[in-house]
Amino acid sequence: MRTNITNLTNVNTLAAVRNLGILAHVDAGKTTVTERILYATGTTHKRGEVHDGTTVTDFDSQERDRGITIFAAAVSCAWDGHRINLIDTPGHVDFADEVERSLRVLDGAVAVFDAVAGVEPQSESVWRQADRHGVPRIAFVNKLDRAGADLDTAVASIRERLHPAPLVVQLPIGAEDGFRGVVDLVRMRALVWADGAETAAEGPVPEELLDEAHRRRRLLEEAVAELHAGALEEFCARSEVSAETLVAALRELTRSGEGVVVLCGSAYRNRGVEPLLDAVVAYLPSPLDVPAVRGLRDGVDEERPADPSAPFAALAFKVSATPTGRLTYLRVYSGTIEKGGVVFDAVARRTERIGRILRVQADRHAHVDRAVAGDIVAVVGLKSARPGSTLCAPDAPLVLEPPSVADPVVSVA
Ligand code: GDP
Repeated sequence: MRTNITNLTNVNTLAAVRNLGILAHVDAGKTTVTERILYATGTTHKRGEVHDGTTVTDFDSQERDRGITIFAAAVSCAWDGHRINLIDTPGHVDFADEVERSLRVLDGAVAVFDAVAGVEPQSESVWRQADRHGVPRIAFVNKLDRAGADLDTAVASIRERLHPAPLVVQLPIGAEDGFRGVVDLVRMRALVWADGAETAAEGPVPEELLDEAHRRRRLLEEAVAELHAGALEEFCARSEVSAETLVAALRELTRSGEGVVVLCGSAYRNRGVEPLLDAVVAYLPSPLDVPAVRGLRDGVDEERPADPSAPFAALAFKVSATPTGRLTYLRVYSGTIEKGGVVFDAVARRTERIGRILRVQADRHAHVDRAVAGDIVAVVGLKSARPGSTLCAPDAPLVLEPPSVADPVVSVA
């Protein structure tokens, strides 16, 4: 069952948050995948509702006309009881600082590959950057509908050039122009998208694909058993590894970086994005599953847990001048901030007041009263914060990132 975003703002749902980035070589389909995710989650088609006491306001028409998702550094959407904060990762290597900072604030990523080109130079460089930041990833081999698309060749290039063990969890149904679905190898079920259908019809694996699906399920089990003790035990003891064991093992291997779950589809034709969202929820970590953030307090290394009751600490990762006001996007690592609250900018060394707190939902802002550890929000009212600034509790100052040459404030007015 899908739940709406604003049910997910309270502190008990940290485990249901995914701070997600989409990484790709230019042209692999990052924008299309992002748009389809917003569509599949209902983000781009639900407008003007009021949920649970939070008021929802439209963007100014000028901003809406220009397509806010192009400018939004983070967009929140809901999937299967989870809140996914989709964080923009600049595709261009020239924005090295911005890429580094966006990798820093997300907890997991989807790497998108072109099923014809496989791993391209830019996908390799951004993959290495994500390695350095310890960002767990799943892979989405896109454009399976294109002439010359081949999942196996793309997977081979992932293995050879990026070096994690690819753990292929789907078998395509149909090829190139006839690509119409996937067999989910974990649950051994078929998902087929009829022409024009928004969601897949689920059913048994087609007769003619049964042998191939069993062969590939076996390969998946072997690959997982090689890396995971629990799965190996079951693999040796039984004729097949259960779906539950596979999911648990795939989750651990994703989070440790030893393996990469590979899914496939055609974002353009809206095929494969829903199972991709299911995989984001199943395999990528929540803010509770990643190591606590570290910073310097009076020059001494200090750890801050992802705990709403710990002292507040957040990193500003993007500042945009919009008609709505100066928006500062924050990744909250620990503690809680309330609308109207006072924070200390540990880099500028000045106290600031938080005005409104917003969640950006594609074409509108949802106003929220507070943001807690693990969350990504935009705040209005900060005057001095720049990308890279740490905001913290005045009585527990902390610097998360050493001050460097200030990044520009982006104007979208
Ligand atoms: P980005 O540069 O990574 O953001 O890539 P875009 O999403 O802009 O896609 C680049 C081009 O590939 C556009 O012309 C898209 O329409 C096209 N494209 C994206 N996904 C698919 C797909 O699944 N199949 C096909 N055939 N084309 C696609």
